[in-house]
Amino acid sequence: MIQQETFFSLQKELQQRQCTLVAVSKLKSIAAIQALYDLGQRDFGENYVQELVEKQAQLPKDIRWHFIGHLQSNKVKYIAPFVHMIHSVDSFKLIKEINKQGKTHQRKINILLQVYLGQEITKFGMDEKETLELLSYYDAQQNDLPFINIRGLMGMASFVADEAILKHEFNALHQMFQIFKIQFFLGKEDFDTRSMGMSGDYQIALDAGSNMVRIGSSIFGARS
Ligand SMILES: *Cc1c(COP(=O)(O)O)cnc(C)c1O
Repeated sequence: MIQQETFFSLQKELQQRQCTLVAVSKLKSIAAIQALYDLGQRDFGENYVQELVEKQAQLPKDIRWHFIGHLQSNKVKYIAPFVHMIHSVDSFKLIKEINKQGKTHQRKINILLQVYLGQEITKFGMDEKETLELLSYYDAQQNDLPFINIRGLMGMASFVADEAILKHEFNALHQMFQIFKIQFFLGKEDFDTRSMGMSGDYQIALDAGSNMVRIGSSIFGARS
């Protein structure tokens, strides 16, 4: 069930702050997505390749699909024909595969590098040092990667309720973004995206400089 009032107030708040709203529709029905589309939403986020492919085939073609889940290299080919942005890039192997599939479909694919912000060990994302290494690698080989467009960074905060910790983590991501911008993307307007903030913490992320939030449950209701 779409939380219409919440959606409209979110939309207004985010517009004022020049922040893009990605409505996270994982595990939600085609009908729910269509209903939000009918209210004007165009950016949607999905976590699972097969689910995304099935939904994309059935929904309006002007939806901008964001892939936000863990992506295996061997599955890039399924989303490469249409995906608007891949938020979860965390290896050079994945970059090379996205470039290859972009070439096949003759389209440049927007990607974000996924950085993990918390202290706990997580399976996905890179720390600052790994991100720096990957960017140095990319920088040296970017002429061979014409179908990749690195648009910025994506981060997820720790699963904690402590606002001070969340604030610290989001600020750290924004700082990393600014450093990488100077080091690798000076004068490149396309490196512009800080994807951070979800239903529970997006306001803290906004204050820390987020310009793309990924919000699911407060719009679509809790996932079962
Ligand atoms: C599910 C998910 C979200 C949305 O989370 P909500 O708490 O429902 O807003 C955002 N980002 C990622 C990477 C997710 O997997």
